[in-house]
Amino acid sequence: KAKAAGGRTYRFYDAKMNDEAASRMRIRSHLARAVEKNELSLLWQAQVDLSNGSFCGVEALVRWTHPELGQVSPATFIPVAETTGHILPIGTWILHTACRQAAAWLAQGLQISSISVNISMVQFIRGNVELQVAEALRSSGLPPSLLKLEITESVFMHDKDTVLETVDRLVKLGVKLSIDDFGTGYSSLSCVQRLKVDAIKVDQSFVRGLPGNAGSCAIVKAVIDMAKAMELAVVAEGVETQEQCDWLRQNGCGIAQGYLFSKPLGASDFENLWAHAAWRSASQNRLQYG
Ligand code: C2E
Ligand code: MG
Ligand code: MG
Ligand code: MG
Repeated sequence: KAKAAGGRTYRFYDAKMNDEAASRMRIRSHLARAVEKNELSLLWQAQVDLSNGSFCGVEALVRWTHPELGQVSPATFIPVAETTGHILPIGTWILHTACRQAAAWLAQGLQISSISVNISMVQFIRGNVELQVAEALRSSGLPPSLLKLEITESVFMHDKDTVLETVDRLVKLGVKLSIDDFGTGYSSLSCVQRLKVDAIKVDQSFVRGLPGNAGSCAIVKAVIDMAKAMELAVVAEGVETQEQCDWLRQNGCGIAQGYLFSKPLGASDFENLWAHAAWRSASQNRLQYG
């Protein structure tokens, strides 16, 4: 009986692995034409300034809707696109689209203080990223200081000189840099210091444990304190509850992003959100007025 169960288990994993491989193959073959077929779009997630409860920035998050595959998560297709190289045209499309939309919003009077765009490690290392960024800024007219590029710690695994040169060229363009998913990757604190980043995003896996998990609290506090000492901004991602928000504000985190404030939205929903007043929590009102 145990043997039969073992057999079933084996077949289950085997089938699952085949499914995953097949799904990656399908994604691979359709990804090549995603840009030209206009299947990509961007969603926009607001960021909140915890000192006053107002919206401050926004992060662009890519979506892919394929006629047969349906919605494919970026967590699934970006890694595939990185191995095939399709991330380069996709990343260029994302940069141009995000800058164009942000410039249009500024022209409409939306007071957005930063627009964050995720940059894949492959794009950063091999993509002439500074040329793509310069071209996206030029053609959109977006002021460089409003553009914030999110890179992950994975870039640190590459040749340090190349990474530092790329960062220097980006800094010369006047754009900002932030480290996404901080604490989950190959962390080197000396790299954080040498890279001229402006902000650190605390990964949502740590935020999830606030305020109940003592380990999560200790890690997030340490990141906030380190960032303070280095004069970097701290953004907490994946903030879902008022308790998490309160803890972060009380412990000196400057900016927060998450479902508590808003999910990633299409452009017109995002405009409505932004137009309809600052996000204010009940406890912030207590703090300010009571
Ligand atoms: P990320 O850049 O760390 O983005 C945060 C992810 O968390 C997003 O998932 C966002 O929708 C989700 N999120 C936001 N608030 C909450 C929350 O309160 N709770 C939870 N559970 N999740 C929340 P998404 O859009 O599926 O993106 C996943 C990842 O895919 C991103 O992580 C990023 O690494 C990558 N990605 C997304 N868009 C792009 C892009 O335009 N270019 C590149 N290169 N990568 C992208
Ligand atoms: Mg990000
Ligand atoms: Mg992140
Ligand atoms: Mg992430």
